[in-house]
Amino acid sequence: MLVDSHCHLDLIDPDLTSIETLLEDAAAQDVRHLLCVSVSLDNAPVVRALAARHAQVSASVGVHPNQTDGVEPTVPQLAALAQDPLIVAVGETGLDYHYGAEHADLQQARFRTHIRAAREVGKPLVVHMRSATDDTLRILAEERATDVGGVMHCFTEDWPTARRALELGFHISFSGIVTFKSAEPIRDAARQVPAERLLVETDAPYLAPVPFRGQQNRPAFVRQVADFVADLRGLSPAELDALVSRNFFALFPHAASKPISAPAAQPA
Ligand SMILES: [Zn+2]
Ligand SMILES: [Zn+2]
Repeated sequence: MLVDSHCHLDLIDPDLTSIETLLEDAAAQDVRHLLCVSVSLDNAPVVRALAARHAQVSASVGVHPNQTDGVEPTVPQLAALAQDPLIVAVGETGLDYHYGAEHADLQQARFRTHIRAAREVGKPLVVHMRSATDDTLRILAEERATDVGGVMHCFTEDWPTARRALELGFHISFSGIVTFKSAEPIRDAARQVPAERLLVETDAPYLAPVPFRGQQNRPAFVRQVADFVADLRGLSPAELDALVSRNFFALFPHAASKPISAPAAQPA
């Protein structure tokens, strides 16, 4: 089996395809589990409801660094939401100066809030890092994120940067970007990340891999990412599938024991 370690099922255009079809198409590629990632306090209940309804879906809770409207989370509020047994991770959180450099202070404060909440509930972090490497890794270290670990999702940097995140105890997840023509430094990292820290993802609906570039991405397409990374590492697709699935459930143990139907979410 294969796992999509990061997608946004609720953001995939429902006019193009239903959730049921997305999950069936994924299963046809042997993609048997997906982590659906929250980007705001508004969509967190939607993401949680998907995990409550579908045995193969896990959920996170968090506010994306580029989110500039909506409610700003506090540590107690995030921790209360993250305590829910259906929530397997805190995020996505992190820093993105590519789009949000003017909000750097807000992003950093929000990032610290997420790390503190994750430490409080003992659940791993889903970290988004774009054009903000030094600040992201510095804050992870300062806030002792190593205690809970997590994943650097949609990793788009080079091997020396990957090594710095690995030293903090983080996993590295590669998306369809690794298949893009210009991505040689990312491919170098994908070859060198230690086997037990490797994950793959789609980040659907964004960033469809080759040969689907320009289409709306979907969890089934993690097959292309996985097979591409398998080839880079000289593994068979089955070996890579087994490896990343094992890594996923080791990092997110609550996903392995996910209750299929759970009580209603506690109020925030
Ligand atoms: Zn992200
Ligand atoms: Zn994402």
